[in-house]
Amino acid sequence: MTDESPSAPITQDVVTIPRNLPAGGKVNLVGLTREGLHDALIAAGTPERQAKMRVGQIWQWIYHWGVRDFAAMTNLAKDYRAMLAERFEIALPEIVTRQVSADGTRKYLLRIAGGHEVETVYIPEENRGTLCISSQVGCTLTCSFCHTGTQKLVRNLTAAEIVGQVMLARDDLGEWPEPGAPKDETRLVSNVVLMGMGEPLYNFENVRDAMKVVMDGEGLTISRRRITLSTSGVVPEIARTAEEIGCLLAVSFHATTDDVRDKLVPINKRWNIETLLAALRDYPRLSNSERITFEYVMLKGVNDSDEDARRLVRLIRGIPAKINLIPFNEWPGAPYQRSDWERIEAFADIVYKAGYASPIRTPRGEDIMAACGQLKSATERARKSRAEIAAEAGLSGP
Ligand code: SAH
Ligand code: SF4
Repeated sequence: MTDESPSAPITQDVVTIPRNLPAGGKVNLVGLTREGLHDALIAAGTPERQAKMRVGQIWQWIYHWGVRDFAAMTNLAKDYRAMLAERFEIALPEIVTRQVSADGTRKYLLRIAGGHEVETVYIPEENRGTLCISSQVGCTLTCSFCHTGTQKLVRNLTAAEIVGQVMLARDDLGEWPEPGAPKDETRLVSNVVLMGMGEPLYNFENVRDAMKVVMDGEGLTISRRRITLSTSGVVPEIARTAEEIGCLLAVSFHATTDDVRDKLVPINKRWNIETLLAALRDYPRLSNSERITFEYVMLKGVNDSDEDARRLVRLIRGIPAKINLIPFNEWPGAPYQRSDWERIEAFADIVYKAGYASPIRTPRGEDIMAACGQLKSATERARKSRAEIAAEAGLSGP
């Protein structure tokens, strides 16, 4: 178990696997940035003067058309296609199961190298659709209300595995364009949120490279304003996120005193509320984005009083913000309960009257355990006990 004393670093127990080098020895092109793809083609003998053009062509096949077979890349010479097929592959995680909720939400269980499993959730809405993707198998952090937090971290996802989640969703939704078909402006996967399993800022480089691929205007084309990265508060990486990714930021705030936040989001012992807020104040300017989303999970009798609501608006004064209230999604053995609906509304009202949008997030896909914080692959057996969860939360155990 992690040493949770205030001065102890919250470390990552991460197994790193070589990037884009699967067991078969072929280099996976998925998830390489344009520069990475350029270097890979040169290393395979592509003449310098042709490399830029080849990058553009291959990029379009993979990310615009969704092609997986080099033989189908008809604007490349036959022997060049054969060379590509020999040295490279276009490989995605494997879909193990797909569950569809009564409300249309889809949850995918994916198998990745090493036999590990992660989950991805697609949430259809009117005129748009949001894909909730994972960045790690499990999580090193141990937020006491989060199901993923009960699963020990197994490893960081590679950039290929992160981009692969978006590509697989497009496969399943049949969203790759047909040659010659009229352009359809309504996108099924129009938004991406890094709110699945894992702490994205503890896998910074892979998340950044994956988002570069996802944002690129000649492929998956999901703009940085339609990507939201959610962090529990890894302060040193926040400015870097603004500068190197530039997407929208959400922060798992969840409490208005350090005492309570230490218990709910233990990373608070390392970077407390004041330190976190200082980093957040700079984010909109650095990333040229409008506002930050403060996520706030509503836990009965823990963080949901009128006083909490008033303290929250005092704390964030001056930060352009939206407060997203998340009714707690229960999971077997969870040490908390969801706040009553009237309580959530009263809390929302105080925040709203202080001048902040305060939407209450409608739980989606609850019947298939696809809602926020419920993701945890059933096959990862390294499950903490109820007593361990309660002890880490500083609660008297059940
Ligand atoms: N690790 C990142 C992103 C993944 S969690 C983070 O913590 O921000 C996405 C959001 O769901 C976070 O705000 C998280 O705190 C919240 N969450 C986790 N478990 C939850 C639960 N059981 N019910 C409601 N929200 C939960
Ligand atoms: Fe990890 Fe986020 Fe869950 Fe905390 S809320 S345990 S950071 S996935």
